[in-house]
Amino acid sequence: MDITTLIICTVVVSLVLAVSMLALYLINRKATYLLLWSFSGLCFAASNLFGSATAFLDLPFWMLPVAANMLYMTAHAAVLCGVSKLVGNKCQIWVIPATAVITSGLHFLPFASASVENRMFLFYPIILSLVGTAAGLLYKARREQYGRASLFLFIVMQLFMLQLLVRAWLLLSGTQPLTFMGNEFLQTSGSLAVIGYILLLTVSFVIVEMWLRELRLRELANTDTLTGWRNRHALQHCASMHFSDACLQNEPLALIAIDLDRFKSINDKYGHVVGDEALRFVTQRISRVCCGADHRFRLGGEEFVIICPHTTLENAQKIAERIRAVVEECPLSFENESISMTVSIGVSARESLDPSWESILRRADEAMYRAKFEGRNRVRLFDNTATV
Ligand code: GH3
Ligand code: MG
Ligand code: MG
Repeated sequence: MDITTLIICTVVVSLVLAVSMLALYLINRKATYLLLWSFSGLCFAASNLFGSATAFLDLPFWMLPVAANMLYMTAHAAVLCGVSKLVGNKCQIWVIPATAVITSGLHFLPFASASVENRMFLFYPIILSLVGTAAGLLYKARREQYGRASLFLFIVMQLFMLQLLVRAWLLLSGTQPLTFMGNEFLQTSGSLAVIGYILLLTVSFVIVEMWLRELRLRELANTDTLTGWRNRHALQHCASMHFSDACLQNEPLALIAIDLDRFKSINDKYGHVVGDEALRFVTQRISRVCCGADHRFRLGGEEFVIICPHTTLENAQKIAERIRAVVEECPLSFENESISMTVSIGVSARESLDPSWESILRRADEAMYRAKFEGRNRVRLFDNTATV
């Protein structure tokens, strides 16, 4: 293929990148990294449009190579900014105009305007540092939830850098001078590499975005929309995982079962909307006295479970008492009224003969019903149902 055909192909794949990223962004407008990647597609396309135009027009120096190379480098900078945004770094958006200004300025050095090779020597290190920084950011974020999804993107960037290095070596060892927009192997292979890179970038970006959406959907499926705590579905997975870990490492594991006292009367007196607000209020208060390692679940209605990994029965009892106290001490304010609430709590811990986490929950439930039976607003342990 001649260089002009390759450049036209590059324009097409770049537009595919720009349009697909824009379409994904329109579905999820919070994902601004998609806009940056769409912009990079536009820059790749515009850069190559200048290139393809030379087949028909005699473009001035400031358009080709200056504007074409400037847009090409800006596209790499936009990919980097998108990755930076994706991994949660502060997006250094200034990298995009800075790359554009530096690339344009370098063209006016006598060394750069002298030959195609000289320009390649100047710009390869910039491309390598832009792509290398993006790959480095992905490597750092490899342990994040989306880390596995971005592995493909990371590999694509590594391959692109590798081919740049190989081509730089070929350039150094080459004897034949390159001609502007020429059909030499070094240039046609470079164009093919760019087409492959943009195609693979598009695929990797789509994979990352699809994976992030999958994670968001899973999160939604596991979250109770009223309180923001995790739901019964999530409890199953989390509890069995902590139970297996605790058995393997012979570590303690405690479960706290919580039920709001006479909650029906709040609904009856103030209505369901206030009842919902009360549920939100109580869970927020409880969250404040739990430690970060505890996992909180709403089983349904006004019943909650807290999993306390690496926690003995005695320590779980202390947490439960803190929960009981904070609910009792903080009434909900509603229209100049203060709505007092209390909770009954049952606590149980893993025993060596427990076949599954459900046995611990059963005992915690039993202890909670005992707390109800003995007058509510109290904490009970399963083993000796001691008063706190
Ligand atoms: P006890 O002290 O014996 O636990 O009494 P209770 O009234 O809390 O228990 P009961 O099981 O009789 O009533 C639970 C009430 O919780 C019934 C229902 O109106 C209310 N409820 C369940 N889910 C929700 C919810 O999502 N929002 C609101 N507002 N109320 C709910
Ligand atoms: Mg209740
Ligand atoms: Mg109940």
